[in-house]
Amino acid sequence: MAKPKVFVFAPADPTGVAHKMLEDAGCELILGRANWDTPQGNDEAEMAKLAEGCDALMGTSIRSTPITQKIMQASKNLRIVAKFTIGVDDVDVDAATEMGILVTHGPTESNWGGVAEGTITNMLTLLKKTRERDRYLKTTTGWRDMKLQGTFVGHREEDGYPGIVLGIIGLGRIGSRVAKLMRPWGMRMIGYDPYVPDSKFQQFGVERVKDLSELLKQADVVTLHVVLTKETRHMINAQTLAMMKPTAILVNTSRGFCVDEKALADALLNNKIAGAALDVFEIEPIAADSPFRKMDDRVLISPHMVSSNHGSGLKTGLLWGTQSVISALKGEVSPYVYNTEVIDQWKARFGGKSIL
Ligand code: NAD
Repeated sequence: MAKPKVFVFAPADPTGVAHKMLEDAGCELILGRANWDTPQGNDEAEMAKLAEGCDALMGTSIRSTPITQKIMQASKNLRIVAKFTIGVDDVDVDAATEMGILVTHGPTESNWGGVAEGTITNMLTLLKKTRERDRYLKTTTGWRDMKLQGTFVGHREEDGYPGIVLGIIGLGRIGSRVAKLMRPWGMRMIGYDPYVPDSKFQQFGVERVKDLSELLKQADVVTLHVVLTKETRHMINAQTLAMMKPTAILVNTSRGFCVDEKALADALLNNKIAGAALDVFEIEPIAADSPFRKMDDRVLISPHMVSSNHGSGLKTGLLWGTQSVISALKGEVSPYVYNTEVIDQWKARFGGKSIL
């Protein structure tokens, strides 16, 4: 029997442990060019060629060439596309589901919990003027610049100050962790997510608003934690930005394409909103002449590494991805399936049919 073929489209296995697991299981590996640090990899035609006759595709995030229908169609045997990270917006999941292919992902707490912590850090950095105060002391001989006033975040019992309003869009893993961590600060938290039950809002102390516009009108901080879908693509655009308070800030650690960057840059330059913290961008890395690189402290940018912390990394996700591939090649369904609706169809095609 020919060896099962696995195309690792974006390898991220510095110790080689995952590749060894697959080789020990009897797989032949084909390695693509992209990796975590340089998300630019092979183009679609090259990827389709490399994917020919493969039983599995796996890898970390690959922004330059998403896993398209054309790439998946390159092999009739394809059982699985396994991502090491949470996001599957770089895989055409609808096409995979239609074709009866499993898409798995790696929602590790070190990743999503790290995004929640980083989101809050960026929010507070903007609200408390941390960078500005530090820079003032380091670049002048002065002491206090009284213009550098921060924002008191939570409510105060003593004088009845109500605190500011945190608007959370998407109450999934990350959005709900943000709510859990911010709850003791005593902010009013409102949320918009049509796909989770009321009980989840109650569990995390978040008031459900009826629609996105209500959230945008009320929130002092708007934080985005949605997955990128056709519906959420550019959900923050010129029209929705215009609904925000001029004093409000936007935090985006979800996906760049959830925000229309051009509209956001215009809103910031014209003081339509007060600030933005962005970890993710439509095109990554951002261009040398991106307007965000040139903006003042109202904008805080980071290179899609808000959840890169010592000891986190891709290790667990890489292991889950590799195990998911091995399971699929054995005809078994791993616990990390994203498009769960495909499972019955997949079982009918491959269930119990091991090629290892
Ligand atoms: P999740 O799937 O647990 O939660 C996403 C939530 O968005 C779900 O509750 C879903 O119901 C909601 N949602 C979907 N469509 C919506 C809509 N139209 N309006 C409002 N809510 C909607 O995902 P997660 O693990 O919490 O990840 C959230 C985002 O963070 C994703 O975009 C993910 O790719 C991104 N992410 C970024 C980094 C980073 O390094 N910056 C790391 C991990 C994840």
